[in-house]
Amino acid sequence: MRPVVLCFSGLDPSGGAGLQADIEAIGQAGAHAAVACTAITVQSSQQVFGFEACAAALVEAQATTVLDDLPVHVIKSGMLGTTDNIAMLTRLFAKQVIPQDTSFVLDPVLVANSGGSLGDEQTLVAAFRKLLPYATLITPNTHELRALSGEQDLHIGAQKLCEQGAHAVLVKTAHDFDSGDIEQYLYVQGKRIHQSTLPRLNGEFHGSGCSLASFIAGRLAVGDALISAVIAADHWITQTLTAADAPHPDDANAQLIPNRFVKTSL
Ligand code: PLP
Repeated sequence: MRPVVLCFSGLDPSGGAGLQADIEAIGQAGAHAAVACTAITVQSSQQVFGFEACAAALVEAQATTVLDDLPVHVIKSGMLGTTDNIAMLTRLFAKQVIPQDTSFVLDPVLVANSGGSLGDEQTLVAAFRKLLPYATLITPNTHELRALSGEQDLHIGAQKLCEQGAHAVLVKTAHDFDSGDIEQYLYVQGKRIHQSTLPRLNGEFHGSGCSLASFIAGRLAVGDALISAVIAADHWITQTLTAADAPHPDDANAQLIPNRFVKTSL
């Protein structure tokens, strides 16, 4: 069967972010997505209205059922919603319920792009720090990078997350400036090993972070090395965002939904 990525992520009814983004991106990367649902959010493509997190025991039961059933190559986590869920995932790694050689892409979701809360930031940050040592790659946005590392400078922050145990950190400047290109840096074990410049596309996108992290997870599952997976994901995400759907075409500030089914030249 296709290699499997097990995602821990929340349901976004608008279909822009969360587990739907994961399933679509991982499918496009050539892998099969399995999902342990961590939370059910109430949100539109534009705004988060609330969420109810799933109990950690329920999320764990979903995950262990998949782990017993399918050959899981990669774990990907997005919205975990509660410290209990983060602690549960940390325990699955620590007790090797998830085998040690399983790659892990950690998207440390704290807030939605729209600014809506997806959990209590302070307590989530403390819990995420314990999960970092199991991460093959962490894909924070700039806000999450600063919150997790306690550093304003993105480069020092990325190095700090490596010191705290993450194997690699992907840094993007997308949310820092309103204009200019987007700079991206890949730090591995504290060293910058790759840098690229991506075009800034018009608009705000709902679910771009989930899509990027999941595509990388999918490419790792099919056998790409980390740097190749990141380069392939950049190429793919640029095309999905260029072809994004506009649910509110009359509102220039409305968030767009990535078109993850666009035919790409990959
Ligand atoms: N996970 C869920 C369930 C969400 O609802 C969101 C945002 O709304 C995210 C993750 C993060 O989304 P993004 O990729 O826009 O950062």
